[in-house]
Amino acid sequence: MARSVLVTGGNRGIGLAIAREFARAGDAVAVTYRSGQPPEGLFGVRCDVTSTADVDAAFGKIEAEHGPVEVLVANAGITRDTLLPMMKEETFTDVIDANLTGAYRVAKRATRGMLKLKRGRIVLISSVVAMLGSAGQSNYAASKAGLIGFARSVARELGSRGITVNVVSPGFVETDMTAELDEAYQEQIRKNIPLGRYASTQEIARVVGFLAGEDAAYITGAVIPVDGGLGMGH
Ligand code: NDP
Repeated sequence: MARSVLVTGGNRGIGLAIAREFARAGDAVAVTYRSGQPPEGLFGVRCDVTSTADVDAAFGKIEAEHGPVEVLVANAGITRDTLLPMMKEETFTDVIDANLTGAYRVAKRATRGMLKLKRGRIVLISSVVAMLGSAGQSNYAASKAGLIGFARSVARELGSRGITVNVVSPGFVETDMTAELDEAYQEQIRKNIPLGRYASTQEIARVVGFLAGEDAAYITGAVIPVDGGLGMGH
């Protein structure tokens, strides 16, 4: 039977590839989007994950359309890069609010339905920089590292209810987020990646699909790197 799947930030980039992967497998997929139009062929709900009211309203619409969310992918995320001495407090807290507290908001709301269903899959999209660190990204890396502690705690809370919580840690992926980086810096990054290239969005999406599928039934609290070897050793 088609599962009710929600991918936050599923209107573009990695999130869209994840949403398309679930749709291809026959699931009923909803995505959140903030502006513009929802992607064709997917059920789009307008939602800013920094707003609890938005999150609650989005879940209400999805539940009415597809039933309770059984697979949640918390993918929405932002960067606001700057070195610490220049980083304004709101530049730090805005990134935490979107990336970490946003994941808390959607995961908390999703567990309401999952606890009743007695099953569920939660996948959080972190980053290789969570463990590696990244100059100019102390806010982003802190938010992404926070997701790991959050996931592992919730995995312990919900394991007995048939709910798994896992983290996917992409390295550099071909998206708008990385297109913003200057070409010389991108070349330097590629040199440090054992596989010598960025990931495609599909390569991240397939791992998320695996974690949400039957074959991953006994995996919870795991952090799966999909980074071409960039983060090896962490
Ligand atoms: P993009 O910048 O291409 O897309 C980000 C998505 O998140 C968009 O759909 C955006 O919506 C949404 N979003 C951002 N803030 C909010 C918010 N407050 N409420 C709702 N939606 C929001 O990013 P990527 O596809 O590259 O990244 C997706 C995830 O993967 C992020 O969590 C990112 O940190 C992570 N990641 C990316 C890597 C990369 O190399 N690209 C590497 C490692 C991790 P909108 O279109 O409305 O702005």
